[in-house]
Amino acid sequence: MSRELNFKQELTGAFGDPISENPTQVMIEAAYRHHGLDWRYLTIEVKRGDLAAAVSGAKAMGFRGFNCTIPHKVAVIEHLDGLGESARLMGAVNCVVRRGSEWIGENTDGKGFVDSLGTLTNPRGKKVVIFGAGGAARAISVELALAGASHLTIVNRSPSRGEELVRLLREDVRVAADLVASHQEYTIPDGTDVVINATSIGLFPDIHARVPLNAGSLKSGMVVADVIPNPPITPLVRDARRAGCQVIDGLGMLVNQGVLGIQYWTGIQADPVVMRQALEKVFS
Ligand code: NDP
Repeated sequence: MSRELNFKQELTGAFGDPISENPTQVMIEAAYRHHGLDWRYLTIEVKRGDLAAAVSGAKAMGFRGFNCTIPHKVAVIEHLDGLGESARLMGAVNCVVRRGSEWIGENTDGKGFVDSLGTLTNPRGKKVVIFGAGGAARAISVELALAGASHLTIVNRSPSRGEELVRLLREDVRVAADLVASHQEYTIPDGTDVVINATSIGLFPDIHARVPLNAGSLKSGMVVADVIPNPPITPLVRDARRAGCQVIDGLGMLVNQGVLGIQYWTGIQADPVVMRQALEKVFS
């Protein structure tokens, strides 16, 4: 007896602009193959003004969910039926999940980052300097605070976004937080445990751009993390290695938030090693 054939894959994907440099598909589809899932993850360029149509299209085509990246993480919220707890607190969604007939916005960025940081250090009681106040910085700072970080310094070029994030951290998350609103070179204070680049500085194609920090102030006891996934070896990663810091590159966060996304969409616990290896292969 021949078994029933199925030529229709389950669909997931990423909506963003720019998106062509985003390597998420490589690791997610590696996980789907590894775990025997006949699913696809499509990398889709969606312009700012086309988001509503894209979300309607995903619903019409029966997507199981999708990631959102720049510039859609906040704008997508009005097209959804509800938000998970982290997404509500952060006011940003990077992972949309179809649950029955409802479309729910989750945020896996910060949790993915904290899982990745946890391979080197426990954030509890740590003093952290974070460059950036956009979606990635919001997600990371909120989850670090929830994980017990004792003090957060936000360094951001534009004061308004920085002030908004510090207010959120102090008033809604109730963690000690300060703002340094500057694009001048910042000297990392002695006593800092963790330094994070959560800006888009260093992202392809601008791969030589440098985070405005005094590399001489990076000390060997510090953990330094960069969120830039492409290329994973940024000028900051190089400076931090040279200074003897423990370093987490952008693939760590990417893989761990991907594991969480797959769990939301499929219910399975994907193997992060398979996912990281797939990314390393394309970047080698
Ligand atoms: P946003 O556009 O929301 O925020 C960008 C941030 O970078 C802002 O704080 C902005 O400052 C700052 N910035 C950008 N260019 C400069 C510059 N030339 N000088 C100083 N500051 C600058 O983006 P996201 O937060 O969503 O994403 C940031 C980065 O994080 C992206 O590169 C993305 O690829 C990466 N990312 C990585 C993930 C991973 O899994 N590894 C997951 C999510 C994001 P200002 O407020 O002044 O404009």
